[in-house]
Amino acid sequence: MSRKVFLNGDYLDENEAKISIFDRGVLFADSVYEVTAFIENKLIDFKPHIERLERSLKEINIEYNLDYDRFLEIHKNLIRFNNLENNEGLIYFQISRGNIDRDFLIKDQKIKPNVFSFTQKKSLTNDPKIEKGLHIISLEDLRWKRRDIKTTQLLYPSIAKTKAIRMGADDAWLLDENGMVTEGTSNNAYIISNDTVITRQLSNDILHGITRRTILQVSSDLKLKVEERPFDIEEAKNSQEAFITSASTLIAPVIKINDKVIGNGTIGPITKILRETYVKISIKNGI
Ligand code: PLP
Repeated sequence: MSRKVFLNGDYLDENEAKISIFDRGVLFADSVYEVTAFIENKLIDFKPHIERLERSLKEINIEYNLDYDRFLEIHKNLIRFNNLENNEGLIYFQISRGNIDRDFLIKDQKIKPNVFSFTQKKSLTNDPKIEKGLHIISLEDLRWKRRDIKTTQLLYPSIAKTKAIRMGADDAWLLDENGMVTEGTSNNAYIISNDTVITRQLSNDILHGITRRTILQVSSDLKLKVEERPFDIEEAKNSQEAFITSASTLIAPVIKINDKVIGNGTIGPITKILRETYVKISIKNGI
C-alpha cells in the first residue's frame, strides 16, 4: 500500500508528491532535515528534534517561521493516515530553501521553502540485528566542517556506510585528521572504559545527537561516570563496551571494531541497561 506523505501543506499519495528540479535542496543540498522515532504511538524526543531543526535553519539562514504545534500535528497525522499507531518507525521531515533558477549566489530574494515529510516503518525496540550488535570499521572523515548542522549533504556518509557494508561490516566510525573518532556515518559513537561512558564533546565536528543528549542524561541518572572527550580507534578497540546512538537505532551495541572483538562479542551489561532504560524513559516521556 502506498504511503500518505506531506508536501507543502497537503497530504498526498507518495506517487503524487513531486518537487521542482529547481529546488535548492535538489541542486545544492540547501536543505535541512530531522528524523524522529515513534514507538507505541509516541514521538520520541520530539521537542528537541524541532529545536534542532530550528537551529539548523538559522545556521544556513533559511527564513522559516516554524510552528511547533503545526509540526506536531503533521507528525501525528502521518502516523494516523498511514495506520502506524501500533507500529514503530521514523518520521523524516525536510525543509529546503525553495525553488529558484540555479545560481551559486544565495539571493536575498524571498523564496518559499519546500517542506515535506514521510514515514518509514521500522522495528526499533526489537531489531534482531541491533540486538546482535554491530561490526564497525574506521574510515577517514571527509565531510565538511559544519557537521553540527543537519543538512541533507549526505553523500559522503552514504558512500562510507556502503563501503563498510561491502567490506562485510555494518557501519563506519569516521576519523578526523588526528585519528580521533568523530562519529558514525549517521550516529554518535561511544566507548565504555573503567565503567565510564566516553563520547566526543559537542562542537562543529559532530551532529549534536538528540539520542546522545538523552543517553548522557540516562547515564547520569544511572550514576555512571561520563566523559565527553575524543578517543582514537586504539582506545576504542581496547574498550570494555562500545555502542552507537541515533533516532533510527536508539542505542545499538558495537561488538567488533575493525578486526577486534569488543568484550565477549555480545551486548555488554552497561549498554544493555542503558538501552532498556532509554527505551522505557523515552516512551514514558514521548508525546
Ligand atoms: N550523527 C550523525 C552524523 C547523524 O546523521 C545522526 C542521525 O542521523 C546522529 C549523529 C544521531 O543523531 P540523533 O540521535 O539526533 O538521531
